[in-house]
Amino acid sequence: MIIAFDDTDSRNTGMCTTYLGALLFEELQQYGPITDDPLLIRLNPTIPYKTRGNAAVALQIETSKPEEVISHVIGRVENFAQFQDENTNPGVVFIRPEQFESCRTELANFFLETVQQVIPIDRAKEIIARNKIEARGYKNGRGLIGALAACGAVLAGQWDYTYELLAYRQPDNWGTLRRVNEKSIWEADNVTYPETWDNVDVANNMVVCVPHSVDPVLYGIRGKNKDTIRKAANMILGEAIERSLLYRTNQGTDMHLIPASFIEDLQDLHSYTIELKVTTVPHTIEGGHTFFKAADKKDKNIDCAAFEPTKNFRELVRKLIPGDLVILSGSMKDGTLNLEKLEIKRLEPKFELVNPTCPSCGKRMKSAGKNQGYRCRNCKTTASEPEIIEIPRDIEIGIYEVPPCARRHLSMPLIRKEQNSYIHPSR
Ligand SMILES: [Zn+2]
Repeated sequence: MIIAFDDTDSRNTGMCTTYLGALLFEELQQYGPITDDPLLIRLNPTIPYKTRGNAAVALQIETSKPEEVISHVIGRVENFAQFQDENTNPGVVFIRPEQFESCRTELANFFLETVQQVIPIDRAKEIIARNKIEARGYKNGRGLIGALAACGAVLAGQWDYTYELLAYRQPDNWGTLRRVNEKSIWEADNVTYPETWDNVDVANNMVVCVPHSVDPVLYGIRGKNKDTIRKAANMILGEAIERSLLYRTNQGTDMHLIPASFIEDLQDLHSYTIELKVTTVPHTIEGGHTFFKAADKKDKNIDCAAFEPTKNFRELVRKLIPGDLVILSGSMKDGTLNLEKLEIKRLEPKFELVNPTCPSCGKRMKSAGKNQGYRCRNCKTTASEPEIIEIPRDIEIGIYEVPPCARRHLSMPLIRKEQNSYIHPSR
């Protein structure tokens, strides 16, 4: 049986859907074995009413006591969900083994849709009713969307994935300052990178695997290899943890990015990858946000942004000039493409006007005065026009990304791609 739930957490009071997942992962084993990795599914990151991470959880259990499992899960959700938060609208879904085949294709497609699109609650309720799926939605039932999507992820079979080990704090410590030895995190990263990633942000000298929110997570270790992730977690020193769970997840897969060709096809609250040509010199406004315009093959322009939290990524963006051919990845918000990745396909040659060279001695001539052209003081040679020279671009062709401190859960770190000179991972 598949058990999935979503939207039990609250931005204000802590609690966390993944913590409930870890708790149930342990408790449900009294009813039978958990038969697969627990799943942590990230949904469309641009949805405005999401809680912190827009995450749903699914567990798969083999049991001869499905009714007991269902009542246990519902009891736990009702105990733990932060109902008082108006933005918390829990949903729980149960899919029995005999329903797997009839639901598989529809829910697998639904999973992809929830990561890329904006899904109305009624759509989830309609699927649940038509397939006679056992489900419980609380308040407006929005959590049913993520819960159903997480079931789809279980049934989908093939999709790209990574892992994240989440370690949870002792309840007495929830809401207090986290006590973690930062040096031990840098050491764990040093030993396990690049098989784990986003533990630290080297360029910005920050630890990023320890959240600052009020939730029970002490740290999260992301990577592709379970053993290496556990090794990293074991190296981290700090306050005692209550429990931990290693989730399989669609984090770090770029699953949210929709390939697009034309700006007219881009919609707010969706994320895209699109090839464009830079048309304006990037400029930075107060607050440190950097903007430029880029055009598609129909010469339609769009505003592109690298916001202040993307830190050193903005320095790269500021080096772009009109004519550069780029493939941009990011989310559409208020008609602006918010960048998370940047591939430079072709660099426009950059020219500069300089004083002309003296044909006799080879040195640069000096200005002879305003509108007077140029002359060489030694040789007395003159020239009327400046010289145009190509100056080297201080960026290279290749793919770049925002630093770990600004990374979205769903964004694929470049370190996951094949290593070659074309890839410029941010660490
Ligand atoms: Zn000269």
